Amino acid sequence: MNISCSAKKNMGLNNSSCEELCRRCGKCCLADFIAYVRDEDILRWEREGRIDIKSVIKNEHAFWAGDHLISADNGRYFHGCPFLMWEEDHSACSIYETRPAVCRNFAPASSEICPLWKPH
Ligand code: SF4
Ligand code: SF4
Repeated sequence: MNISCSAKKNMGLNNSSCEELCRRCGKCCLADFIAYVRDEDILRWEREGRIDIKSVIKNEHAFWAGDHLISADNGRYFHGCPFLMWEEDHSACSIYETRPAVCRNFAPASSEICPLWKPH
């Protein structure tokens, strides 16, 4: 995954070093980020004609069950965000150019879910 770094100033990093920090392990995409999709994301997808994205989110009916995503329809486990892909040796976002704001704003090492996180 290639994530933008809104917290780079706090971390004393420039854009390129912040991007380099990310190991593209995809662990942050196992959280329930889709649950935090905002109206601005929905409006952008409507402007862009991305009914495919809206349809996936609507039909997945996913919710966070403490440590994993689960389908509200049939109890099926989700193994991360439906837009998470694996490319050779790293994860990638299949809707990277128009991913939700919550994903754009997530900074490596900013949360315990990231292997780069260190307790202060
Ligand atoms: S939309 Fe993309 S960046 Fe956001 S959680 Fe899903 S795969 Fe990760
Ligand atoms: S969990 Fe951290 S290292 Fe892994 S993809 Fe996300 S930001 Fe990058």
